[in-house]
Order: sequence, then structure tokens, then C-alpha cells
Amino acid sequence: MVKKCIMCTKEIADEAKKCPYCRSDQTFFERHKSGVLLSLFAVLLLFAFSPEIRYYFSNVDSAPYLDDISISDSSIRFKTDNYGVYAVVIGNLTNNTPYTWKGVSFELSLYNANDELMDTMQLRDYGVFSAGKSLKFRLQTPVDIKENEYDHFKLKLIAATTQ
Ligand SMILES: [Zn+2]
Repeated sequence: MVKKCIMCTKEIADEAKKCPYCRSDQTFFERHKSGVLLSLFAVLLLFAFSPEIRYYFSNVDSAPYLDDISISDSSIRFKTDNYGVYAVVIGNLTNNTPYTWKGVSFELSLYNANDELMDTMQLRDYGVFSAGKSLKFRLQTPVDIKENEYDHFKLKLIAATTQ
């Protein structure tokens, strides 16, 4: 009976422990089976429990983490050109999650003095918000309002993505 060498694929005797052509050990997996399986298991465990590892393989659902990303020092100003009115919102985002987010989505709502909603929109900043760090963000959007009716705004985080 013959088998094929696991390395060079030449036909060798079935009972050969080493290939006579390339000298490769034919029994490596048999002798190291428990070690190989244990290593695979350890990698699976790492994959399941480590946020850093999961981060590289999949997009993380941001919903459970949004409370740990905070907006501070946000301010708004308006620009007017031939095409209409633009809102520019800047602020600081502090990321107290274990993840680095490569894009954060906001909901911007504009109100008049009676707290009536004038316009609302979803906006995205494609900055890289590193874990444990603070970074400035900037959002710009055309808005459908008269600037003299505007009174205040609300800015809410709605999602973040890791890829
Ligand atoms: Zn061989």
C-alpha cells in the first residue's frame, strides 16, 4: 500500500513516518493533535470574548455603547449663500468605549422659540474616534429654516460604525 507524502505528494510507503524524498515528518498532526486542537480552541475563545479581535472581523453593533460616547461643547452657526442656509455644527466627542469608531451618525434637530421642530436631519462624521480619546467633530448640512426663526438645537448620537 502507498500514500502520498503530505509535503511533496510523491507516493511513499503507507507505514513511512518520514518521506524518503523530502524527509518531511508524516506523523506531525497525529503527534500534535491535542496541541493543534487546543490552539484552535484558544483562538475561538479569543475571537468570542475579545472586543479588539472582534473589531477586526466584524462591524460592532454600536447600540449598547452609545451611552459611553458623549457629546460636549457643541455649537452651531449658520452660513447663507446663493443656494440657501447651511448649518455648521462643531463639538467634541469623547469615546469611552473599547472600540475605535470610523464614523459616527448624529441626528440634528432645530427648534424655534416655542420649542417647535423646524427641521431635523441625520448627519455623519467620518472621522476616526479612537477608544478612550476625545476628538472634535464637524457637521455641515443645508437646512430648511429661516435663520431669524431659529432658537435652539438638539444633537443626538444615533449610531457608530467600526468599519
Ligand atoms: Zn515528501
